[in-house]
Order: sequence, then structure tokens, then C-alpha cells
Amino acid sequence: MLFVEDLDVKGKTVFVRVDFNVPLTDKGEIRNDTRIRASLPTINYLLGKSAKLVLASHLGRPKGKIDPKMSLKPVAKRLAELIGRDVIMASDIVGEEVNKLKSGLKEGDVLLLENVRFHAGETTNDPEFSKKLAEGIDYFVNDAFGSSHRALASVVGITNYVKKSAAGYLMKKEIEYLRKALFSPAKPYVAILGGAKVEDKIPVIENLLNKADTILIGGAMAYTFFKAQGFGTGKSLVEPDKIEIAQKILALAKEKKVRFILPLDNVLAASIESGQVAQIVDSFPFPQDLMGVDIGPKTVARYAEIIAKAKTIVWNGPLGVFETPAFAQGTLEIAQAVAASGALSIVGGGDSIAAVEKAGVSQKITHISTGGGASLEFLANETLPGIEALEKK
Ligand code: AMP
Repeated sequence: MLFVEDLDVKGKTVFVRVDFNVPLTDKGEIRNDTRIRASLPTINYLLGKSAKLVLASHLGRPKGKIDPKMSLKPVAKRLAELIGRDVIMASDIVGEEVNKLKSGLKEGDVLLLENVRFHAGETTNDPEFSKKLAEGIDYFVNDAFGSSHRALASVVGITNYVKKSAAGYLMKKEIEYLRKALFSPAKPYVAILGGAKVEDKIPVIENLLNKADTILIGGAMAYTFFKAQGFGTGKSLVEPDKIEIAQKILALAKEKKVRFILPLDNVLAASIESGQVAQIVDSFPFPQDLMGVDIGPKTVARYAEIIAKAKTIVWNGPLGVFETPAFAQGTLEIAQAVAASGALSIVGGGDSIAAVEKAGVSQKITHISTGGGASLEFLANETLPGIEALEKK
């Protein structure tokens, strides 16, 4: 795979797929510009080398139609402030007018295309649309790791119609850390998986059973695993159609001698909305009218002990309903433990990132992945469509 530094970009028109999918307020103001800042190393490098830049991103889910509320115009303004140069904002993504803007670019100019999802061809990876994206373009650079788990025209299709394709700085960093966790993890290797849905995490668990020494489970997901062993979990969120696969995973963990640890105690509440802890229990069955909303203190202590000895940690998904203060303690304490471990730590997924931020420890995490879905899929499949597209030539 080529890296952006391998390209001779002086005077060349370079299409950079970035992730400018920033949160906006109702008034269309940028609430958090982290994603724009994350792309600056690649953008500034290319500008420093006198390239002509064409930037593309999605924002929100306009579903193939123009929606002014999801225009990238506010991003153009913010980007211009960050790079200290004008940013030309295109009114479309492809077409005659955009092509005119592309061909009028001078060295060091920056053109931002409109939201790529304003055209349906983006998400269907339509070859015609991909070809149009590539019109007037010499090189393609992918710096949108968070979009690279999908076959998109601006991530995959476009690589068929440009002279060379390469990874940007952000993309390279993401791949390097995740590859380390997959192929050369220092041991002990501990994976922490939480969140609401088992379904999203099954392929990751299956692959990590070949890699990790210990898998610590939390979140609602734990209750499907308890149910799979015949325990009464009260009103806890359980995915009945995932019980069979949960049983298979438990058996597989035993066979592969991977420690697969479920919570030792659980914080119960009448409902998430109640916002109040009803009981903390360390046995089953849970009372019929209560549900598990967090891991309990014994679990935190046990998990923290294991985390403290780890040399590699991968964490995705909160260990409880951490958005509600009364149910956030388990997740926040685990965030502290990961930060204090000194291990190479990789945290992915919007909720886990929010948790390390809430705990005030993001500076102590080795790598915070910008793509939750993409990092999970990478850990499961060991590659992504967007990476394969860069590797194929
Ligand atoms: P996911 O997108 O699958 O990573 O799930 C994240 C969501 O799981 C968060 O919004 C949490 O509030 C939720 N969650 C975590 N633990 C529980 C639980 N015990 N019961 C219900 N929801 C939970």
C-alpha cells in the first residue's frame, strides 16, 4: 500500500477522501471540529508539497438527495480558519461546473466538494459516479478510516480511475495500531467488549478468541451470555435470537482456553429512565421487575486487576448505561483502569470515546480510533474494503 509521502504531488491534482462528518447544532454551527483537525496532517503535508487539493467527505445521512442542512459549507469556513488559506466551496460533487473548478486550481489551492452522499452513487459504489469523481484527478488519497469499512464510490470505486492511490496520515496511523493489536500484540492481551448489541460484536469476539488471552464482557451484551447459560436476568436487555451463538462463543472460549469473563456482580434498576440504582446483586435470578444497567464494584475490582497486568488492551462499548450518571460508574472506573495500565491501549466506538473523555483520561489512551464501526470490522476481518482498494495495484 502506498503512503501519501510516496506520491510526487507537486502540481498534481489530488483527491483526498476525508471524514468531515462533524456534529452540527440546529443552527448549522460545528459543535466539535475534532474530525476536521484529524485530517490536517494530510492536508497540510499535501499543501506543503504544492499539490492542488480536492477534498471530499460525507456529512450525516442525506440518502442520495440534496439537503441544505447537511451541506459542507460550515466545514469549508472552519477548515479555512484552520489551514489559514481560502477554501473554494463547490456547489456539487461532480459535473461540468465542478470540473471547471478542478481544472482552475493552482498549486496550494483547496477545493471542497459538497457532501458526497448528496448523490446516490456514493453508497452504491456506482462505477459511473466513481469515474466522474476521478475526472481531472491525478492521485487519490484515503484519509477517511471511519468510512473505509464500506464499499463507497469515494473510498473504493474511485481507485479504479486514478493513476495512483495512497493512504493519508490518519489512515496509516489507524491501520498501524489495529494491525499491532491483531498481529503482534504484547501479552497479556485483554479485550474489553460492552455495549447494547451482541450482534455487532460477534465477528469481533470470534476473531479475538484467536488472539486475546482474556475477554472481559460488560454492557447489556453480558445478559445474553448469562441467559445462554440458563440464568434468570429479569428485565435486562437480552437478544433471544443470539442465545445460540452466545452458547457457541462460550464453548469456543473454553476450547481455545481464552478467559471469557462475565460480570461477577450487577447494578440493577427498575428501568433506565428511573435513573436510580435499585440493588447490586452477585447472584441469579435477578428480580423479575429489575434490569442490569452496570457492572458492580466486585466486577470493577476484578476487571481492573486483569487490566493492570495487560500489555495490550482493545476496548469497544460501554460496560453499562453510562449516559445516566447513576449507571456510569463501572464504565468510568474501567476507563481509569485502562488509562493507568501502561498497556498499549486502543479505544474505539463513539460511546467508549465519550467514556474516556468523561473520565478525563483520553490523553492516557495510546490510540483513540476515529471509526467505531470500521475499527470493529477491522478487528473482525483483519482488513477493510477501503484498505483492499489501496492495496490492489
Ligand atoms: P453499542 O452501540 O452496541 O456499543 O451500545 C452502546 C449503548 O449500550 C449505550 O447507549 C449504552 O447505554 C447501552 N448499554 C450499555 N449497557 C447497557 C445495559 N446494561 N442495558 C441497556 N443498555 C446498555
